[in-house]
Amino acid sequence: MTQPYDPQNIFAKILRGEIPAHTVYEDEHTLAFMDVMPQGDGHTLVIPKAPSRGLLDADPAVLGRLFATVQKVAAAAKAAFQADGLVIYQYNEPAGGQTVFHLHVHIVPRFEGVPLRRHAGGMANGELLAAHAKKIRAALSG
Ligand code: 5GP
Repeated sequence: MTQPYDPQNIFAKILRGEIPAHTVYEDEHTLAFMDVMPQGDGHTLVIPKAPSRGLLDADPAVLGRLFATVQKVAAAAKAAFQADGLVIYQYNEPAGGQTVFHLHVHIVPRFEGVPLRRHAGGMANGELLAAHAKKIRAALSG
């Protein structure tokens, strides 16, 4: 049974500016920022500003705008890190691996022969995340 949306989730707090994030992109409808426990260098999350728990309770119009931003940020992350490829994924509910209950899409640059790190495995250095966010912002504006 799916729970209702909880506005106290960590990404809602980031959207309200109550906790900090290393932002790479923001527009009227979406926000993209670095994952604090990256599975690879450049691991970025894209979220809609509209509240929904996951994919299934989101308005299709929200999904359209969300994936427009995912495409934009994914291209910038791939260019910024000169990645060989990308993994893009989205989890729903605890049984599906979801741990934060505000819809989000993961973008992870991939490199030939380099395995993904464990999901939500360990906190990254803040200065490194800031530097990675800066690289992606530069690629977005380039
Ligand atoms: P999920 O398992 O819900 O798809 O992924 C949630 C993601 O959010 C994880 O990859 C985790 O590392 C990340 N995360 C958890 N807490 C925070 C936080 O406070 N800030 C940021 N930027 N990412 C977070």
